[in-house]
Amino acid sequence: MSEVPRFWRESKHRYRLVGTRCENCGNLYFPPRDICPTCRRESINKMKEEELSGEGEVYSYTVVHDGLEQFKMQVPYIIAIIKTKEGPLITGQIVDCNPDDVKIGSQVKSTLRKVRTEGKSGIIQYGYKFILK
Ligand SMILES: [Zn+2]
Repeated sequence: MSEVPRFWRESKHRYRLVGTRCENCGNLYFPPRDICPTCRRESINKMKEEELSGEGEVYSYTVVHDGLEQFKMQVPYIIAIIKTKEGPLITGQIVDCNPDDVKIGSQVKSTLRKVRTEGKSGIIQYGYKFILK
């Protein structure tokens, strides 16, 4: 059995919204799970990867005024729980808007953004964030 290298799996899941769907009951999970919590043993080898559209609506949100040191330039920022149109709830940052523009039920979509630059190496990390539609 060939195992996909860990770094590849992690980067893929960082750049794309990939969840897993249980082919036994049809439930979709994000983050991906190896075993369906509903079907358990019956879901072994029946979890298939499925990419989410990244579209959804704001389920709840928080405006954060105290940034971690590395995020100081971005304060205040908005962390929201997004209810994706496929179903799973995803936590992410909403960017490119005024906190006053965000409402429960606002339509959003995911976008790939620079998260941070690694100190001396200069390696830029990317991740998904959300913007208002
Ligand atoms: Zn299941």
